[in-house]
Amino acid sequence: MSQDFISTQLLVAGHWQDAADGRTLPVFNPATGAQIGQVAHASEKDLARVAEGAAQGFAVWRALTAWDRFLIMRRAANLLRERAEPISRIMSREQGKPLEQALLEINAAAGVIEYFGEEGRRLNDALIPARAPNVEQRVLHRPIGVVAAFTPWNFPINQIARKLGAALAAGCAVIVKAPEDTPASPAELLRAFCDAGVPAGAVSLVYGNPAEISEYLIAHPVVRKISFTGSTPVGKHLAALAGAQMKPVTMELGGHAPAIVCEDADLDSAAQRLCAAKFRNAGQVCIAPTRFLLHKSIAASFVEKFKMQMNRLKIGQGLEEGVTMGPVVSERRLNALNELVADAREKGAIIWQADVPLPNEGCFFAPTLVLNPTLSMRVMQEEPFGPIALVSEFSTMAEAVQEANRLPYGLAAYAYTRNERTERLLGEQVDAGMIAINHHGLGVPEVPFGGMKDSGYGTEGGPEAVRAHTLIKLVSVEHDAPEF
Ligand code: NAD
Repeated sequence: MSQDFISTQLLVAGHWQDAADGRTLPVFNPATGAQIGQVAHASEKDLARVAEGAAQGFAVWRALTAWDRFLIMRRAANLLRERAEPISRIMSREQGKPLEQALLEINAAAGVIEYFGEEGRRLNDALIPARAPNVEQRVLHRPIGVVAAFTPWNFPINQIARKLGAALAAGCAVIVKAPEDTPASPAELLRAFCDAGVPAGAVSLVYGNPAEISEYLIAHPVVRKISFTGSTPVGKHLAALAGAQMKPVTMELGGHAPAIVCEDADLDSAAQRLCAAKFRNAGQVCIAPTRFLLHKSIAASFVEKFKMQMNRLKIGQGLEEGVTMGPVVSERRLNALNELVADAREKGAIIWQADVPLPNEGCFFAPTLVLNPTLSMRVMQEEPFGPIALVSEFSTMAEAVQEANRLPYGLAAYAYTRNERTERLLGEQVDAGMIAINHHGLGVPEVPFGGMKDSGYGTEGGPEAVRAHTLIKLVSVEHDAPEF
């Protein structure tokens, strides 16, 4: 067995261990198809121990002061930074993304953890003025309990960092069900927390059959909150399971982001920035721009500039020097993308693909434009979650906004314009949890990150993300009248 072969274990009550029944799942490199590791497949026996350990970990973690929790979280963030280089190699091999993007993700995750650690120190209680004399009304924010967090493979570390960071800052313990496609890099994140001194059971890590694990954990009495990032259908299913248990959820689901390019836009900047945002992580980003809505007066010019940018992409294995786009994560995703493009082609779309060489093996998908799409095409309704941009034209801003708001999704939206009034109107009228105009600055930890409608609810950024892991309690006390 190659020494690069990684066996990822479960983290149960502070111990790294194999599954109780020894079951594993294979892990593949999407750039080559080779098996590069395996991951432990938890059974109910493991999950029962994890839940018990998390209950104990919660009791210890919540009893620490916010300052002590912050110190541990800051240490974990620093360990992650120190280890970023080797971890980025692990991530690139199992997920496919270019090394540079893996490094950026890991360093961003360290920043997220640090931010939330600090935010936990500002989780202030409140005193509300009372209507009667000598009455004190205290509003307490207390940790909600053990959180079950389900995270996907597109950002194997950062998706977990957001959930862990916000929950730990509030004093909660977290059981992470990390992605089986990309298990080894998340384990390194959890290792950083263990090495930083987080109490046993305050963080746990499991893999296995996602449906079985979510059903088990959501129903478990120890688990008090559910947090999920993934597709809308799975999110609705998990929210329903949680609803049956009266447990709150944070749901960060799919998107189908419009990118409106107005007639007064800086086209060079728009083409360059939208290309970078579209093809980052091979388009497997919930906030990736997908529906390009171009004012008809600039459409041809923008498409030419955008194609030039696409032709500059370098496709290959993430570990290769200079590669800017890797493979998609799995054959499952490759097949899904091929089906969407075949459907669009059959229904009359013009398919244009970047003139760049693709490796002969692995899950590579060429950067693709779908021109003249119609509403009957699946890709105009479903999130492609890959390197596909759909190009349509509009004549009036009202038309553009109507198309932007057509779908049940409402996660991210983008626009390029130099008109301040248009900026303001778009900010108000586009139904999206996040709108970036003339740039792509979404995702820093101190601002909200979340969607509306079928894109989910709750936020994974800012102080609200920490508060979402608390219970609000009122303690109202009538004291004796004070006298010396
Ligand atoms: P999928 O819906 O099968 O899985 C998405 C994620 O959810 C995976 O990590 C998977 O392990 C998990 N999952 C699936 N069923 C689950 C269950 N019953 N309980 C708990 N977790 C469960 O889709 P996929 O093929 O892996 O990815 C494709 C779709 O997922 C995309 O089209 C996109 O909409 C969505 N996705 C979204 C994000 C995001 O950042 N919002 C990330 C990854 C995938």
